[in-house]
Amino acid sequence: MKLKNIKIVMVETTHPGNIGAAARAMKNMELSQLVLVNPKCPMGDIAYSRGSGANNILDDRITVNTLPQAVSDCQLVVGTSARLRSLAWPELTPNSLAQKVKGLNDAEKVAIVFGREHAGLTNEELKHCHYTVTIPTNPEFSSLNVASAIQVVSYEIYNQFTDVETLKVSENLEPVADSAELEGYFAHLEQVLISTGFLNAENPRQMMKRLRRLYQRAEPSKNEVNILRGILSSVEKYRK
Ligand code: SAH
Repeated sequence: MKLKNIKIVMVETTHPGNIGAAARAMKNMELSQLVLVNPKCPMGDIAYSRGSGANNILDDRITVNTLPQAVSDCQLVVGTSARLRSLAWPELTPNSLAQKVKGLNDAEKVAIVFGREHAGLTNEELKHCHYTVTIPTNPEFSSLNVASAIQVVSYEIYNQFTDVETLKVSENLEPVADSAELEGYFAHLEQVLISTGFLNAENPRQMMKRLRRLYQRAEPSKNEVNILRGILSSVEKYRK
């Protein structure tokens, strides 16, 4: 699946600022196809200024009269809704939508449909959607601004397409200390804490257990364990 094959469809939007903000959110997340179904507002300065430089997305927008026209070439059509409908429709979370989209083949096209500011999507419009997606929220205040909803869903998709795992690995390039190195450190620490009088060898209580928990939680690297042992050695040298 390619990001450029994803359409963001906005149905009967009434505020041009929301269309501009949607274009901005899309460009942040490398989406490019904006489709407006029967927009109820002019596309002037307000839209462009809220777009903050996403002009190309606003210029390239496609405007159609009906939802079926907007989604006719799409293999997957997903409607978004702030509330569950009386008629249960297959539901996806933003994250499971993103996984589904990532799994499609490169030729397939996806439409994600967003409703009117005041009334959302009609049941008739939802009938054209294979799934609905609801962004989890405070149950007593569940309706996001439409451009914010576009931001959240686009982010989830973008996140699936960028390799977050590789980022994590490269952040943590230093090899992590092994158990023997940690044991060496704990023995050294205990010895120094007894020699300074911090720990009573006769009555050590749970101190070493607590300290182990603290250091193990930090998953220190080999290098960091060496630094900690260096600190202990400096304390020993100072005492002599
Ligand atoms: N009063 C309307 C709210 C519309 S908000 C209603 O009850 O449906 C405008 C649009 O933003 C919605 O149609 C939907 O596309 C999107 N949206 C707002 N909150 C959302 C949420 N929690 N999850 C998914 N989409 C949401």
